[in-house]
Amino acid sequence: MASDKIIGIDLGTTNTAFSILEIEQPEVIPNQEGERTTPSVVAFTDSGEQLVGNLARNQAIQNPTRTIFSIKRKMGRRDFTKEIGENEFTPEELSAAILRKVRRDASEYFDEDICRAVITVPAYFNDRQRQATKNAGEIAGFTVERIINEPTAAAMAYGIDEHQDQRVLVFDLGGGTFDISIMELGEGVYDVIATAGINHLGGDDWDSALVELLSERFRKEHDINLQKDPEAKQRLQEAAEKAKKELSTRHETRINLPFITATEDGPLNLEDRITREEFEKITEGLRKKLRKPTEQALKDANCSTHDIDNVLLVGGATRMPQIKRVAEDITGKDPSTSINPDEAVALGAGIQGGVISGRKDDQVLLDVTPMSLGIEIQGGLMERLIPRNTTIPTQTSKLYTTSHDAQSSVYIQVFQGEEDIADRNELLAEFELEGIPPAEAGTPEIYVDFSIDINGIVEVSARDEMSGNFEAVRIVGGSGLSDEELEVMKHKADKIEDQTISDDHRFIARERANRAAGVGERLLLNQDIPLTPTAAIHIEAGIDRVETLLEDPESLTKDLESATEDLLHDIELHGGTEALGEDTPGMQTN
Ligand code: ADP
Ligand code: MG
Repeated sequence: MASDKIIGIDLGTTNTAFSILEIEQPEVIPNQEGERTTPSVVAFTDSGEQLVGNLARNQAIQNPTRTIFSIKRKMGRRDFTKEIGENEFTPEELSAAILRKVRRDASEYFDEDICRAVITVPAYFNDRQRQATKNAGEIAGFTVERIINEPTAAAMAYGIDEHQDQRVLVFDLGGGTFDISIMELGEGVYDVIATAGINHLGGDDWDSALVELLSERFRKEHDINLQKDPEAKQRLQEAAEKAKKELSTRHETRINLPFITATEDGPLNLEDRITREEFEKITEGLRKKLRKPTEQALKDANCSTHDIDNVLLVGGATRMPQIKRVAEDITGKDPSTSINPDEAVALGAGIQGGVISGRKDDQVLLDVTPMSLGIEIQGGLMERLIPRNTTIPTQTSKLYTTSHDAQSSVYIQVFQGEEDIADRNELLAEFELEGIPPAEAGTPEIYVDFSIDINGIVEVSARDEMSGNFEAVRIVGGSGLSDEELEVMKHKADKIEDQTISDDHRFIARERANRAAGVGERLLLNQDIPLTPTAAIHIEAGIDRVETLLEDPESLTKDLESATEDLLHDIELHGGTEALGEDTPGMQTN
């Protein structure tokens, strides 16, 4: 049965997190792997399996062309598709794959069909990108109740009182992006007055600095460049991220990678230790980059650090003490750290979901348009009908007329942006209003009406007073999709899901296979349990088969499952599990 619960989703560039507010406080919902964040990574194996999250991330280096990272950067782009075999995927569809896992995991967690969601987007996302995000949610089977700004969500999660006049600076350092937003709060309105940032700077760069350091030291010692070997590089990257995280709470960390490479003399291990001090020294250049955008945002907001009442840390990378220090240094304010920074946005989205579903009533969220909207008028100029930072929902209309005699139609081009020359802005839509009865220039009365709904989605219409002719567009812009297109994509996603083994299914199959192989090995080695030579050969071959399938990243889960079952069958047949006193992995019973 469909649940009335509304979850909040932070669909991040690197990680996705989701939460719910059931009573009072929002809570993060763990994914099926038991983790609080899910890597925003999608992959397709050669055998056609779709992987999302950790599994996709972990096989990335072996499968680079079919693994998609950071799809959020492409959101709203009509010209981008990812080709996988015979299929082509749009950014919406790939984001939908991530959201499908969210829906599946949340539904499993509550044992209810979760199908309503609030999704967050960066404050600077334009209409096209917001619409694309909404589409992704719908392709994933959600009803998207609201799209809200990430800094707004973060402020809600931090419990900032939106009824009290104040300025808040949100300092968001994620995995691959750095976003600064300055908001003005008061009377229940969250007004984003400036945004700035760096599109390609985030925690990943801190990992890379560690990878460089470790591989350089290794090269000095052994004269081998580990970064040339994809597998070694992936292990190094994983170890670097782990070390970085450890250094957020410890002063020193050890890195231990056995058999990282081999020489003629045998395998080599990487064993190293890094202190927080060393780490901070090699990342000084990265830290320096954080200053300029922050100053730019303050300048754009027309304020100085003295005018800021609150600094909020958002994004997993702000867990590093060095980042907290720079944020403090640049803003002169002690930043709030009362909640987990990589969960703040998801928690805020959950609060908003709680408000919509009536589980929390004292909060009204009003948002503002991030950019001006208008139409092109004579001389190629942009006339703004809805200026940026107007509180939404909003609606406005304006009277226009014709510019020459007997003009029978007007062409309306809708732009979004702050430039005075219309076509330097983003063209959202264009349409023609026809059938204007012949008249002298300047006499027809044509009303152009703009409205923005609570999700920031724009509708524009034009009406000729005399004839009553009417034309309207819902701005699905160059990027939006018609209902039919959405249906087609949903269908395609359903089909892939049907053919696909879910992450956890694959994960469990691998675990079982590993355990079965282990039991088999122990049985072969155990002197107390006599095996007939034939049984031993069977079991040995069975282990071999399971291990080969385990090692092959392209192997099919169903093949692995049947090999595991065969092996377990042989083991069981010879009383292996019982005799070994093993906790039997059990035969597949479904
Ligand atoms: P995004 O908003 O880009 O999707 P997140 O806010 O989840 O991403 O931030 C992800 C980044 O935060 C990654 O680079 C990750 O390594 C980093 N991170 C997470 N936890 C920690 C920690 N304890 N210490 C340092 N960095 C962390
Ligand atoms: Mg984020």
